[in-house]
Formats: sequence, C-alpha cells, structure tokens
Amino acid sequence: MQKLENKFKEVNERLNNDINFIIQAFINFYGTDNSEYIVDKIKDSRVIWYDESSDMNDNIYNHIISSLPKDELDRILKERKKEAFLQSVYIDEFDVLVLPLSYDLTKIIHEINHKIGSHIVSRKPLIQISGISYSVEKNGIIQYDNDLNEAINQKMTLEIIEELKKIGLKVEVMPSWQENLFPVIDSFYSAFKDNLKELNVSGNLLKFRESLGDEYFSQFSQLIFMCGFKARRTISKKEKVDFSDDKINAIDNLVLKMKEYHDSLLQNNGKKSYK
Ligand SMILES: [Zn+2]
Repeated sequence: MQKLENKFKEVNERLNNDINFIIQAFINFYGTDNSEYIVDKIKDSRVIWYDESSDMNDNIYNHIISSLPKDELDRILKERKKEAFLQSVYIDEFDVLVLPLSYDLTKIIHEINHKIGSHIVSRKPLIQISGISYSVEKNGIIQYDNDLNEAINQKMTLEIIEELKKIGLKVEVMPSWQENLFPVIDSFYSAFKDNLKELNVSGNLLKFRESLGDEYFSQFSQLIFMCGFKARRTISKKEKVDFSDDKINAIDNLVLKMKEYHDSLLQNNGKKSYK
C-alpha cells in the first residue's frame, strides 16, 4: 500500500505542476473563444489513479487510489466491473477520469479530451453524447460510432500534445490502437476538423450530422464501423491492420460528397442572411 501512496503523491504533484500547461494547450487547440468552457471542464477534475503494473487478482483497493471521499469511491466502484477501473477511461455519468499512475501523458490528454466532448442528454434513460458518438441505455448501453470517435479523439490528442510541446512541456508520445484506423478517417478529420472541435464543445451532434447530409453520414458511419470491426479482430490476432485502396477510396469519395453538401449549405445560409 505504501508503494501506491508514494506513486499517488508523485502523480498528484506532477499533475498540479502540469495542469496550467495542459489547460493552455487545450485552449490553443480549441481557440480562445472556448477558454471558459475548457477551464471549467478541466479544473477540479475528479480522478481515480490505477496501477497498470499490477495484475488484478485481489482487492481492487490494492490497485487504485483517489482523493475522492471513500463513500463516493465505494459507490462508483459498485456500479461497474472492477476491470473498468484498471484502464484509462473517462466515465461520463460519474464525471470521473481513470488515469494511469505511470503518468502516461498521451493517455491523460486522450481521456481529458473525452471529457471535453462529453455531454449528458438525459439521465433516465441514460443518453450521452461523446464527441461524434452517442450511447443509449436500453437493456445495457448501446454505443454508436464509437471507433470513429476513438480515432478522432486520438487525432486530436496528438495535436494537443504538439501544443503542449510548443509551450515547453516534455512529452513522450506513446502509440495507441486507434492509430490503426487513421488511414480510413484521415480525410474526414482534415475536411471537418474545425467542425469536430466545435462539436466537442457544443454537443450538437444532430446539427453536425445534418450539416453533412444524413444519408452520406450514415453510409460513412457504416463503412467505418466495418473497418473498426476488422481492425479489432486483426489486432486481437496480433496481426497488422491493413485496409485496401478500394476501401479507402470509397471512404474518401463519401467524404468529398459530405464536404460538398456541407459547403453548399453554408453558401445557401450565407445568401439567406444577406436578405
Ligand atoms: Zn478513448
């Protein structure tokens, strides 16, 4: 236990030292217009730290540590499987970040960015928007566009880390599974990066999807779902994920259509406002 507490003291100090850099990097990425939202979301974050070097085989309290009150922690732990607290994650409904005691900043920034993009629409039944994905509670939780959201979140994470480096923080970027999906989401991300940032802050997913053409977006979402499915299966077999040129071309074509649709809407809106 002493070991866990020592690590906890160390990461707390590091995070306290880094937090203003982190907030600044997020503001540089999302734009100063969103400063207030960013500061609000990041400051006073509730964190559970977990020790990834230990295997879970006994009391969960030997593997996690937090400054949350004990009864609050007990309540949260009761709601999920123990394994959920032994990996980096942002749990929206408890507003809690689960972060590694190894202080892997790539993971920390990734999870904080999930927190930025998280919007709870309803508590009963639980409906949540997370960036470009959403989930609905219906005999368990059904998640839509989760892999797409994960890949976009990781693209953003890498850019936020670049901002961190620019303002003087040393960060070693660690590889992540989401990178396997970059070849199929790169064109979408570069076409709509500013809109995706806006979406994370506003949570207005319906408006975003409509602005791309619902039908086009559904086709795109379906293709990425299949790619995600394939990638997960390939990774679990410890093989290299590879997408055919045909697949990537089909996706890029859809992105072009969404971009045209999006830009024509903008033009029409522009005309209307001049009347
Ligand atoms: Zn994630």
